[in-house]
Amino acid sequence: MSIIHSPRQETISREELEQLQIERLQSTLNRAYRNVAFYRSAFDSHGVHMEQIKDIRSLRDLPFTTTEDLRRSYPYDMFAVPLRDIVRIHSTAGTTGNPIVVGYTRNDLRNWTECAARLLAAAGITEHDVVQIAVDYNLFPGAFGFHQGAEQIGASVIPTSLTTSIQRQIAIMKDYKTTALVTTPGYAINIAAGLEELQVHPERLQLKLGLFGGERWSDDLRAQLEARLHVVSIDTYGPTEVMGPGVAGECRMRHGLHINEDYFIVEVIDPKTLEPLPSGQEGELVFTTISREGFPLIRYRTGDITSLDISPCSCGRTFARMSRVTRRTDDMVFFHGLGFFPSQIEAILREVLGNTPHYLIIIDREAGVDRLEIQVEITEKIPSLDEIKTLETLRARVTRRIKALLDIEPVVSFVEPRSLRQSAGAPSRVVDRRLG
Ligand SMILES: [Zn+2]
Repeated sequence: MSIIHSPRQETISREELEQLQIERLQSTLNRAYRNVAFYRSAFDSHGVHMEQIKDIRSLRDLPFTTTEDLRRSYPYDMFAVPLRDIVRIHSTAGTTGNPIVVGYTRNDLRNWTECAARLLAAAGITEHDVVQIAVDYNLFPGAFGFHQGAEQIGASVIPTSLTTSIQRQIAIMKDYKTTALVTTPGYAINIAAGLEELQVHPERLQLKLGLFGGERWSDDLRAQLEARLHVVSIDTYGPTEVMGPGVAGECRMRHGLHINEDYFIVEVIDPKTLEPLPSGQEGELVFTTISREGFPLIRYRTGDITSLDISPCSCGRTFARMSRVTRRTDDMVFFHGLGFFPSQIEAILREVLGNTPHYLIIIDREAGVDRLEIQVEITEKIPSLDEIKTLETLRARVTRRIKALLDIEPVVSFVEPRSLRQSAGAPSRVVDRRLG
């Protein structure tokens, strides 16, 4: 069991929490309306009247904010305070357009540190820990959030970076007696491989905890990391636009990530109808910040797919828990009016074939009729008739499983080994020819 960093807040009753949320929401809305032209015109065109926002339910009367809205405000148009009150600036990468620039006031930094400290304490970190942060200290807020939070708790912080060599990371880990590693899951697996290569057995390290975040990671990868690094792994969540690390994180129960609900109001919406969904149902996560001064967000659509559990956790915390994010709305594929994710196809292939093959989902329109094909790479060449029969059985099994679970009927075909490999960049799992 871990120590609750701020017990009064983190174990608040839902009734008391909602009271606090509505008060903070009202003042956020007033400030956003007064100081940010975007919100003023969005509220006006939606006929929003501040005096009508009396309880949490009335949140649904407010318009959404999208990533595109934030990009268009580049660099400072979303700031709700003058630049002289901003003490820190971070930004997103902006690989597909303008970056989103995020400003923090002194109070914002203090609140961020508090949120991150809660998350680290929930993970089990105390003043006795040595925390190695292998995240870059740059425009991204990642490293800073964890750094501030760990210092607040009183742990010993070792700031490293993703460009530090793996060999050096391992030497630091060994010599400085690191007990907790904070990094991305992708980098953690490189460290695990490095340990094996250098023949450093994890037993010889003091490492016991891994906090991973910043990218989506599967349960498979999680099991691998725990086995190869000998750590308990903790998932963390914190988009840059919303604040950075500290928004949400797992406690030691690891049944969802506790969201710091005294700083954020969360909703889960149907990404197609945009209607709020009841807790427990899966949909797109939407954030409203209720304490941020520099960069308030009203009903910001994250694109991340999750579900909420508002029942109190056995760790004692009452803040809602979100399920681990493994999918986004922007990779959702719509076919015959139904939505599914490539990751769901992948899970079925893994279940039937016993491994995760390379695959490609192709959607075509022939004479006005949509057709879904799934090409699956076989691992070896098909030499004999027996194996062709086996493939035929597998093909039928995959098709049946997809029909049963997703209610869609694909054409499944097996293709030669290495015919689907991507040459460079992120692998695209979907080719949609309906778009022209
Ligand atoms: Zn908990």
